[in-house]
Amino acid sequence: MIKDMLLDMIFPRRCPICDRVLGNINGCGGSRCLVCSEHDDLPFVGRVRCMKCGKEIETDTAEYCSDCERYPKIYKRCYPLFNYIEPVKGSILAVKYRNRREYCDYYGSAMAEMLCDTVRRNGIDVLVPVPVHRHKLKNRGYNQAQILAEVVGRHLAIPVCTDMLLRLEDTRPQKELDNLQRANNMKNAFGAGNSHRNYRRIMIIDDIYTTGATMDTCARILMEMGAEAVYGAVVCIGVA
Ligand SMILES: [Zn+2]
Ligand SMILES: [Zn+2]
Repeated sequence: MIKDMLLDMIFPRRCPICDRVLGNINGCGGSRCLVCSEHDDLPFVGRVRCMKCGKEIETDTAEYCSDCERYPKIYKRCYPLFNYIEPVKGSILAVKYRNRREYCDYYGSAMAEMLCDTVRRNGIDVLVPVPVHRHKLKNRGYNQAQILAEVVGRHLAIPVCTDMLLRLEDTRPQKELDNLQRANNMKNAFGAGNSHRNYRRIMIIDDIYTTGATMDTCARILMEMGAEAVYGAVVCIGVA
């Protein structure tokens, strides 16, 4: 009890969306602060979506977004929760670069809610987080994709496996590169780790989907390792 109070003083719980400290006044809105719970205008991905990557598209006569139309994907389907815009964008960047790993509790449970039916319907055996290179892991202290996967796995009672995919080399930050450079950058960045016979239907978990190069590279490796089907789920997806 006293330990909890002390921890709260040193590491106050914060709203995952706006970063406000959840005090007595702001803390009654559940995991989000009262302001963010009341203004429920989070940028959830809209109803009309690409049947492959899950990105919002303008017309429901098209099956795929222009990107998936042009570059066919190996993964079966990706499920994004939010569009990569504010206020989620800043919050996810804080998870990545400002040690706000605790926000994964909120995002992971929101992902679990979104994925509940999908995971059962598609018979997903295991969640595989996109790995980060050990240098990055050492600097940052954690892999946010793995934390997310663990939260989702706990909610949906699905195992999380972290040794199927390997991160081979430190890649340049994707945001500095164009599409073609990203694909090349990714190609050598991942490798096959241990295979697990009982994990055949896999869902890859990541924080951000930009071009899909990461997701699809990981899917290709898992398929080459003998997976039956690979799906993906991300907190947010870049808008065109
Ligand atoms: Zn808030
Ligand atoms: Zn698409």
